[in-house]
Amino acid sequence: APRVRVDGVGKRYEGSNGPVQALDGVSFDVADGEFVCIVGPSGCGKTTLFRIIAGLEPATTGRVVLDGDRVDGPSTDLGLVFQEYHLFPWRTVAGNVGFGLEQEGVATAERERRVDELLELVGLDGFVDTYPRDLSGGMKQRVALARALAVDPGLLLMDEPFGAVDAQTKKMLQDELLDIWRETGKTILFVTHDVEEAVKLADRVVVMAKEPGRVREVVDVGIERPRE
Ligand code: ADP
Ligand code: ADP
Repeated sequence: APRVRVDGVGKRYEGSNGPVQALDGVSFDVADGEFVCIVGPSGCGKTTLFRIIAGLEPATTGRVVLDGDRVDGPSTDLGLVFQEYHLFPWRTVAGNVGFGLEQEGVATAERERRVDELLELVGLDGFVDTYPRDLSGGMKQRVALARALAVDPGLLLMDEPFGAVDAQTKKMLQDELLDIWRETGKTILFVTHDVEEAVKLADRVVVMAKEPGRVREVVDVGIERPRE
């Protein structure tokens, strides 16, 4: 069975100027360990799709199945990364990364061990006691990634994660994410408006059409691209 099945998902908003069909019968699967990008122009429904897969809002029609269970609300089996980081400003780097483990009741010593491991994975060892306000954008996103990975989620779901950093940092973060993906074997679903980024990162790209919230095509990139 696929790790994620997006099955005929539609979303209709009752906007102030009448109804908006943000998604119209979107279907695709993500296999275990696959890196899939969803790409499309602004307004094509990417954020709406992200929010539905994450269980942050309901679909109007169709369904999303994650590890065999229908998504009907926020799931702890998901690691979420947003463009604007959404770190807890009152918590240190370690406090942010350890948040999910605290929620799960993991004992302090084990939690600290896991946090150290994760900070090493994202290249932030030494920043345990730093607060988010003292970090660059790229570093904040590394913290957000470590926090998302902390609870060992079945799916890492990322929405334009590198959209707010400069070009050089973006390239670095992309390379680091590919390394982390190979090292951890995580399943990644990554939303971007940047076609070049999608082709660089993904095994498969789900290309969305501008109107009306449909998938235009699903493209295999892996075959033509050398790995490692
Ligand atoms: P993208 O992330 O690809 O830019 P969105 O998912 O944000 O696209 O939006 C898809 C369409 O749905 C757009 O026309 C947008 O204006 C509309 N939309 C998104 N959220 C809402 C909402 N809460 N209410 C009404 N319309 C919305
Ligand atoms: P993006 O940069 O992803 O395209 P937007 O600026 O379009 O995001 O939207 C920001 C937020 O507002 C999102 O949560 C989106 O769902 C919501 N939104 C977008 N369009 C509308 C709309 N027409 N009415 C209400 N909310 C909307």
